[in-house]
Amino acid sequence: MEFLKSIQNLFFPARGLCYLCRENSPGKEYAHICQDCFNLLEPVHKEIDIDSAFLTKIYYTLVYNRYMRDIIRDYKFHGKSYLYKPLGELMLRTIEAKSLGEGIDLILYMPAHRRKEAKRGYNQAELLATYIGKELEIEVSHNNLVKTRYTKDQNKLSKLERMTNLRGAFTIRNREGIRGKRILLIDDIITTGTTMDEASRILIKNEAREVLGLALTSSRKL
Ligand SMILES: [Zn+2]
Repeated sequence: MEFLKSIQNLFFPARGLCYLCRENSPGKEYAHICQDCFNLLEPVHKEIDIDSAFLTKIYYTLVYNRYMRDIIRDYKFHGKSYLYKPLGELMLRTIEAKSLGEGIDLILYMPAHRRKEAKRGYNQAELLATYIGKELEIEVSHNNLVKTRYTKDQNKLSKLERMTNLRGAFTIRNREGIRGKRILLIDDIITTGTTMDEASRILIKNEAREVLGLALTSSRKL
C-alpha cells in the first residue's frame, strides 16, 4: 500500500492542494487553483474571429501566455491528465460568461488519432468535455466524431496544405446521435481554427443543427 501511495503521489496532487503548483491551498474562487497560480493566468472568455460556414462561434478561455504554454505541455505531453480539473473549471467560467450552455443538447470533443491517443493514454479534449458535461448535466458523446486519418500539425503547413491535410480526416459513426442537435465542441488549444472548422463541417453535413466551439486557449495569430 505504501508503494501504491507513493506512485499515486507522483501523478496526483495531494488532497487540498492546488493542481497547478501542488504547493498552495486553493483560493476561495476555484476548487483546484491557488491565488498565486491564478494570477499567472489571463482569462479572457473571448470569441475567435474565424470565417466559417459551419461553426456559429468559437470562444476560448485563456490567453496563450508563457505559463499557459507550460501547462498545455504538461497536460498534453507529460502525462498530467489530472489537469483537466483546474482547466475544466476555468472553461466553465467562459460557458457561464457567454451563456454557452443554453440550448446545448450535446457535447463533443475534438478527436485524436487512435495511434496518438494510445501513446498518450488519454485524449485531453475528451477529459475536458467529460468534466464540463458532468458539471452542466449535458450529455457527452464519446467516440462518435472520430479521426480516421493521421494528419500533420496544422500550424506547420501553408493554408493550401492545411486544407488538403484535413480532407477526409474526420467521420461520424452514429449520425442519429447528432441529428438536429445543438452541439458544443470542445478542444484544448486552437492553433489555426481550420481543424475545428473541418470537424464542424462533418457535423453539419451529418445534420447537426448547430455547432459552437470552445477551446481552453488559442495560439492563433490575430
Ligand atoms: Zn498553485
